[in-house]
Amino acid sequence: MKSSKVNYKPKDAEKRKAIKPVICYPIESLKPPPMQDYFNARKSLKKIDQIIIPPRDAKCFKVPKGHFFRIYCENGPQVGDLNLWCHNNLDEKFYSGKTRALYGTHLSTKDRLWSCFPYLRPMATITHDTLGWYGYDSDGGSVHDVIGTRCDPYTEKTLSNKEYHFCCHSNLIRALSNYKNISYEKAEKYVHDVLNVFMCTGFTKDTHQYFMKASPVRVGDYIEFFSEIDLIAGLSACPGGDCSTSHSSDDAICHPLRVEIYKCPRDNLNNWKEPKISEYSGKHNR
Ligand SMILES: [Zn+2]
Repeated sequence: MKSSKVNYKPKDAEKRKAIKPVICYPIESLKPPPMQDYFNARKSLKKIDQIIIPPRDAKCFKVPKGHFFRIYCENGPQVGDLNLWCHNNLDEKFYSGKTRALYGTHLSTKDRLWSCFPYLRPMATITHDTLGWYGYDSDGGSVHDVIGTRCDPYTEKTLSNKEYHFCCHSNLIRALSNYKNISYEKAEKYVHDVLNVFMCTGFTKDTHQYFMKASPVRVGDYIEFFSEIDLIAGLSACPGGDCSTSHSSDDAICHPLRVEIYKCPRDNLNNWKEPKISEYSGKHNR
């Protein structure tokens, strides 16, 4: 937070502050996703699997490339924390910071979830979002953010001196450890900043701090993704429930989340190709 008590202000301060912003990463030069292919494909989806994520827990599941997956609000308003990894390479993981820099603080239909360096390619594309109507509210809040990181036991210990073992960070560690049969220590290195599915968040107008408010999600709402590469997805049903009051504790009412995985006829995806990893040479002026 920036203090308003500054003891020096240059004479041309207002002039300097009045300079107009420019977009850091204009996305007009990005190759657009073949949305019409996705929209055609999703008309003939065949459900092939379903996973229930229990409250205050997480699970990992595979989504083959060219498939779709949906995250459903199952029993009541509930927030989910999503991690993505390349199925055969855990080092290639979702990069929420760069995704935010490209599309903004909150994601919806047509936005893509990019992987980290040195790969930097779309891992998944959002193809439907029943909360797309929400837009931005009068507090500046919206849903499905890439600004929060994930609830975690370290911050909880630092702020409240309490031990809590069912934060999304810990839930995702257990889920990845089980899925890949690796130790908790190894799994923890691969857990990363999330897409906050269904969570309603923003920055306060006065102090610009990260805030949350009750998720507008209702039973039957869902967000749908197209899998651009073979994925492992990890999803935690956050201990914050609808995140209207608290998280990182057993205080909130929590519900399960339902994941559905769908196959589609490949001939509906004529213009789609698996994205290549970044073509940057990697020389870094060597
Ligand atoms: Zn959480």
